[in-house]
Amino acid sequence: MARVLFINGGSEGHINPTIGVVQELILRGEEVVYFTYEDFRERIEKTGATVRTFDVQKFIKAFISGGRNSILERVNGLLLTADIMIPSVLEQIEGEHFDYIIHDSMFGCGYLLAQKLKLPAISSCTTFAQTKASFDKLLEQFSKQNPAEVVQAKYGEFQKLTERVKEKYGVEIHSPYEVFCNPASLTIVYIPKMFQPFSEEFDQTYKFVGPSISSRATQENFDLSAIKGKSLIYISLGTVRNQAIDFYKLCFKAFEDTKHTVVLSVGAQTKIADLGEIPKNFVVQNYVPQTEVLKYTKLFITHGGMNSTFEGLYNGVPLVVIPQSADQPVIAEQVAKNGAGIQLQMQGLTADQLREVADQVLNNPSFHKAVATIRESLKELGGYRQAVDEIFKFKSQYDS
Ligand code: UDP
Repeated sequence: MARVLFINGGSEGHINPTIGVVQELILRGEEVVYFTYEDFRERIEKTGATVRTFDVQKFIKAFISGGRNSILERVNGLLLTADIMIPSVLEQIEGEHFDYIIHDSMFGCGYLLAQKLKLPAISSCTTFAQTKASFDKLLEQFSKQNPAEVVQAKYGEFQKLTERVKEKYGVEIHSPYEVFCNPASLTIVYIPKMFQPFSEEFDQTYKFVGPSISSRATQENFDLSAIKGKSLIYISLGTVRNQAIDFYKLCFKAFEDTKHTVVLSVGAQTKIADLGEIPKNFVVQNYVPQTEVLKYTKLFITHGGMNSTFEGLYNGVPLVVIPQSADQPVIAEQVAKNGAGIQLQMQGLTADQLREVADQVLNNPSFHKAVATIRESLKELGGYRQAVDEIFKFKSQYDS
């Protein structure tokens, strides 16, 4: 048995794929101490892990204070979260021994903590993986697209912050890549390699294990019996950028008076009362047990979040992808390229267009065929079980 320190500071999308991994680690005898927000305590404790938390409000405030307009501002924001993460983790694990660390590839200062604690490290990557070369291209773009003084100021800030981290925590940072992508000796990527752009550039330390989908056992108030056997469309824009009243009303217009039953997840911050009258064939909730709902779904209209996309495909559901931000436009392209759905743009979208495209995906067998093939390949990849196989192979190098 080994003791595992798990660090995750992200949102739902960064947490969910790790649930199966932690469950499986514990099943195979590991002991896991998992750092996250208080909000996720219940779902992580159910895995059998010990949960410890840090202050999410302070974490987000620090991240945002770095600025949000460019890649380097986000790097600086992540560096600013070091003062929230590092002291809190160090204090809460004082005197304890860990054998290895698993950290998110983006949030939680995993790379810094691994260096500080001198632990073998595994990165948990819930989005597309980045090589240093591909990340440096993004930085180059930033430099080209901005006035020299702005670029200089942001790099100056980066320099100052890295010096501070070195002084306070004794950890050296050599590049923005180390801060933004938290590289490690093993990176578990929860997508199939065929979906990874420039996949040939990733060496053997990257393991593309496919979607990690497991029962989350959270308490959600949802009547599954009301949707079983129905011609079900499920619509969600995920958990981050989902305050889209106009879009939700457009969905009402597109699908009211159709034979479909529609489940619409509007996100925790949207006030359902602001949506006006809800058509009879709609079930509208702030949050639904998505992986359960998808088992009965015929079509998923999604923002193209990495998790949502693969949860849909894993359940054999074709997609209409309406990307909002982040990696979603690339995911939407990959879905369309692989014949698993159609991508639409939010801007200028009409109810008629949405209904027509939905009908097209529902009625054209080519989408179902492509999704069935992808589904098979996803199941073969193994997801969280494969992830833990890789983690065990990795840790065996360190066995004395
Ligand atoms: N999710 C859910 N119920 C909802 C909305 C979302 O369970 O009503 C889950 C979904 O299953 C997925 C995660 O939240 O695992 C969203 O992650 P994704 O990467 O798709 O998008 P993000 O929220 O990060 O934009």
